[in-house]
Amino acid sequence: MKTNAKTQVVAIDGPSYVGKSTISRELADRMGFLYVNTGHMYRAIGRIAIENKIDPKDETAIVKIAKTTDFKFFSGKGFCGTVVNGKDWTRELDHQDIVFFASRISVIRELRDILTAKQREFSQEHPIVMEGRDIGTIVFPDAMWKFYITASVEIRAWRMFKIMTEEEKKKCPDYHVLIPKIEKLDEIDRNREIAPLKLAADAVIYDNSDSPTEVQDAIILQYYMNHRDEICRNSALLKNK
Ligand code: C5P
Repeated sequence: MKTNAKTQVVAIDGPSYVGKSTISRELADRMGFLYVNTGHMYRAIGRIAIENKIDPKDETAIVKIAKTTDFKFFSGKGFCGTVVNGKDWTRELDHQDIVFFASRISVIRELRDILTAKQREFSQEHPIVMEGRDIGTIVFPDAMWKFYITASVEIRAWRMFKIMTEEEKKKCPDYHVLIPKIEKLDEIDRNREIAPLKLAADAVIYDNSDSPTEVQDAIILQYYMNHRDEICRNSALLKNK
């Protein structure tokens, strides 16, 4: 699929709990781009389905929700958010049940087609930083910049633990318990038939396991964006040595 080549899109992909959201938000803020969190779109559909007691296997009902749900993203200096059907759900989508539900329904082809079309529309009016699993491979294969963020599974389990509610932490006093859960999410995201999580051939891999903060990660990605040609020339020179 050819997207508008003039559109400035920063595609940020990677597995769950690698800090993609904070990095993307910070990068969008620094660049003055709109920040679009596609995971929030899948999560919002999941939340609506849970509230309406819909089974994740009920594709017809899930697709109907996707067709009738309106998404808006807003961002400016130091703030950003996700509005679903007119309500600010920026902080309403972190519950673990919603995350796992989102992961289960993300295998539905028609759901992905609807959300992918909606995601492409965001680039029509603004330069964007868009994060997800398939942004550099499917949604914007022509994105001007592509990053694939990764980190060790222990660090990711710790990050998942940090954002859990007190109620969730009571059931899970040690973050190591979360490692198999993260591995399960990875398995679903990497092995699904449609739009699996994978590295785009032209993406830059960034491992932030040892990074002190996500703000620093964003600074490094921004540096790369501003010096891409020079960095590519230099790495070509190194390859030829
Ligand atoms: O990124 P986040 O953890 O919010 O995503 C929740 C779930 O939604 C993921 O586990 C993944 O299965 C799904 N997702 C997806 N494609 C995207 C974004 C999220 O399949 N572009």
